[in-house]
Amino acid sequence: MAKKDYYQVLGVERNASDAELKKAYRRLAMKYHPDRNPDDKTAEANFKEAKEAYEVLTDAQKRAAYDQFGHAGVDPSMGAGGGGFHGAGNFSDIFGDVFGDIFGGGARRGGKQVFRGADLRYSLDLSLEDAVNGTEVTIRVPTLVQCDTCHGSGAKPGTAPKTCDTCGGHGQVRMQQGFFSIQQTCPTCHGSGKMVTDPCTSCHGQGRVNKTKTLSVKVPAGVDEGDQVRLSGEGEAGENGGPPGDLYVQMRLKPHMIFNRRGDDLYCDMPVSIATAALGGELEIPTLNGRASIKIPAGTQSEKLFRLRSKGVKNVRTGHVGDLYCKISVETPVNLTSQQKELLEEFEKLTREGGAKHSPRAQSWTDKIKNFFQ
Ligand SMILES: [Zn+2]
Ligand SMILES: [Zn+2]
Repeated sequence: MAKKDYYQVLGVERNASDAELKKAYRRLAMKYHPDRNPDDKTAEANFKEAKEAYEVLTDAQKRAAYDQFGHAGVDPSMGAGGGGFHGAGNFSDIFGDVFGDIFGGGARRGGKQVFRGADLRYSLDLSLEDAVNGTEVTIRVPTLVQCDTCHGSGAKPGTAPKTCDTCGGHGQVRMQQGFFSIQQTCPTCHGSGKMVTDPCTSCHGQGRVNKTKTLSVKVPAGVDEGDQVRLSGEGEAGENGGPPGDLYVQMRLKPHMIFNRRGDDLYCDMPVSIATAALGGELEIPTLNGRASIKIPAGTQSEKLFRLRSKGVKNVRTGHVGDLYCKISVETPVNLTSQQKELLEEFEKLTREGGAKHSPRAQSWTDKIKNFFQ
């Protein structure tokens, strides 16, 4: 099923501010929340759709990727093992996502303050061929993953983190300031509500460990420099069991032996002998999908550009196929034998007799010089 445009889902303009997004999302979340619409599959689908749109558009990186790249830029199915949008099926943290930041910090889950893991960026060097045709590559990314030994709790197996004494497990403390009572993140447990007294030896109580992950990335055909693919949930593990961040794989194109790419079009330079340029002929030229040929007319000048329609790159977003431009560069022959020199001198004599007929540019140049000195 084709996905709806995220801006349409939320009913906002493309330049909507975060505040407008939040307002729109809050309205939809109130309307479609599963608690208010028990056993209503349509409401649930609408709710998930709104949540997904909101998550993407309020994340500056994801929003940029979406604006530039459409759903392909943020589609979890584009990446291997992308487990869908984090928490998409989990409704308990929904209001944490929307309202959590009002209280400064991460969302709350099960009485604990949890933090989403950091997003990561990876630069992927691609050959022009791979960028044009698409490919699947294996990358190795150093990241923080949840500790296997303690499953992210930070406590030694067999022990459990105990409730924080300072905040009584709330993760927040109330401070009296004049007439006001202010809620603050607990300074002892940093909001987790738990204290690890017997830390896990594998992760030293951090709940996360360094690991180099091996991931497979599907690169869609037609990507260009700077395009990015998002691998949902492949960023750093969250703190206190929070959801992981995402991994953004950014494309970098390696220079190509023959072609220069400008958008969907390809350019190449083609050396041609004086005789071929003068007499015309058929030239074999390389394209990304094999050989092609062009006919150049007699009297072709250097720098002349020939276009081969639809031999460029198919745009990853629009499907438009670019062209291939071939620039002729007439080559002056070098290291001539005495026979070649004689023939050329003979040729030059005959050409000179014809004047402007054979060399219109040289003739007009000579005329200009004459006028200049008069
Ligand atoms: Zn551990
Ligand atoms: Zn505490």
